[in-house]
Amino acid sequence: MAQKGLLMCVCQGTCPSFQKMNIFDVANAIRRENLIDYVAIHPQLCSTDGDKFLTTLLKGDMTDKLYIAACDPTMQVKMFRDALEAAGFDKNNIQGVDIRNMTTEQAVAAIEAMIKSE
Ligand code: SF4
Repeated sequence: MAQKGLLMCVCQGTCPSFQKMNIFDVANAIRRENLIDYVAIHPQLCSTDGDKFLTTLLKGDMTDKLYIAACDPTMQVKMFRDALEAAGFDKNNIQGVDIRNMTTEQAVAAIEAMIKSE
């Protein structure tokens, strides 16, 4: 069965842009609402092992929609292009939201709005 996933990335947890939120509280809030089938946090998606993670996660048609909460969505598409191609995953099935400089509550609201706007 194809699934919907949420992947979050917070620049290794050290970037000032992510200091106002608790990423684990964000993940738990979205999990509790059952809006997605799985949630994961990666420390640095735009690194080489981030590419490998994305390709490994997305190949094999197990995921049909991946939401990414991280930095600028336009940059996400550019940074993840090779990994998506390697997985054979249509980039139109990725949807991103920028959660930088948000509190936990603001990040949860932004992610909820993204998912519910589908
Ligand atoms: S993908 Fe975005 S949020 Fe993640 S480490 Fe790279 S720049 Fe930071």
